[in-house]
Amino acid sequence: MTGSALAQSPPAGPSTADWDAAVAAVRALPADGRVLLICHVNPDGDALGSMLGCALGLRRIGVRQLQATFPGPPGVAEPFRGLPGLDLLVPAADTWTDPDLVLCFDAASVSRIGDLAGRLDSAGEVVVLDHHASNTRFGRINLVDPYAAATSVVVEGLLDRLDVPIDRDIAECLYVALTTDTGSFRFAMTTPAVHEMAARLLATGIRPEEISRRVFDTRPFGAVRLYGDVLGRAVLEPDAAGGNGLVWTQATLDDLARHGQPAYVLEALIDSVRCTEEADVSCVLKQVAGTEWAVSMRSKGAVDVSRVAVALGGGGHRLAAGFTGRGGAADVIAAIRAELDRVLAGS
Ligand code: 5GP
Ligand code: MN
Repeated sequence: MTGSALAQSPPAGPSTADWDAAVAAVRALPADGRVLLICHVNPDGDALGSMLGCALGLRRIGVRQLQATFPGPPGVAEPFRGLPGLDLLVPAADTWTDPDLVLCFDAASVSRIGDLAGRLDSAGEVVVLDHHASNTRFGRINLVDPYAAATSVVVEGLLDRLDVPIDRDIAECLYVALTTDTGSFRFAMTTPAVHEMAARLLATGIRPEEISRRVFDTRPFGAVRLYGDVLGRAVLEPDAAGGNGLVWTQATLDDLARHGQPAYVLEALIDSVRCTEEADVSCVLKQVAGTEWAVSMRSKGAVDVSRVAVALGGGGHRLAAGFTGRGGAADVIAAIRAELDRVLAGS
């Protein structure tokens, strides 16, 4: 390995001292200690599954005062409505302002938890659990493992050290998280350890076919038609991304309205776009408001799209990243093209 490759390697995972500090923070809670669990805005399966699995684990060892939350509109998207532990969700505005302990899940930086960032200052203790290489370590205790396939891998590590017995409900939450971030065991992070964790979770009796159908493989017919429209306007730019190819499309608020669909149905759209053989980089622009777009980016390996996303105000992983784009769709895609060129020129 060259010096520069070494320099770019993400730091190692949590140290023994980090784990010990996190365990001590839980064990030091008073009998009625209040624990606030926070995950990132617009939570995906890893964010919700890690947070709720951890909350249920703490409940199993006697923590009674638990609130789970995330910034933005309360309520979870349809695919997650069967998750165990949803009874612990509290709208962000109604959460304790000075909890004894805050646990933060799957957020690489404090901007990802919006207005809830204030809770970090007023809490008795703050533990960040995450797996983004770009994590800014904004907790007082940081359990950040860039080599973990999902934040739920870190959660399992903490629950294990707290001697929490993993029951079926906890397992289901952690399994949803693990399958979400490994693309159902297809992505590069799918190590033997990931399959071993999946085996431990499955051994509790959870039903992978039911979970997968509910979380990944069910959408309304209107969404199927919507995908038809949006995929029908996909653009392939073979010369973009340094000749590695870019494929992209946009989904507007009008598309959603025309088909009577909520925004969450677009979350899986990138998976249909990224199949494109002729492009290394894929993008989906999802309109959030007039000139605001939630942008999803994927790479097959030629480009570190997290560098593109970070340059444009977002973040993520090397092969899966995102940011909020502003302007018309043409402006956003032009900015992406330019950043792709810049990142490729620098690497
Ligand atoms: P997705 O495209 O599935 O929404 O997101 C892929 C990854 O990109 C997520 O795991 C997350 O790490 C990151 N990501 C997506 N959108 C944003 C964003 O607006 N800001 C930041 N910091 N990261 C994002
Ligand atoms: Mn994650």
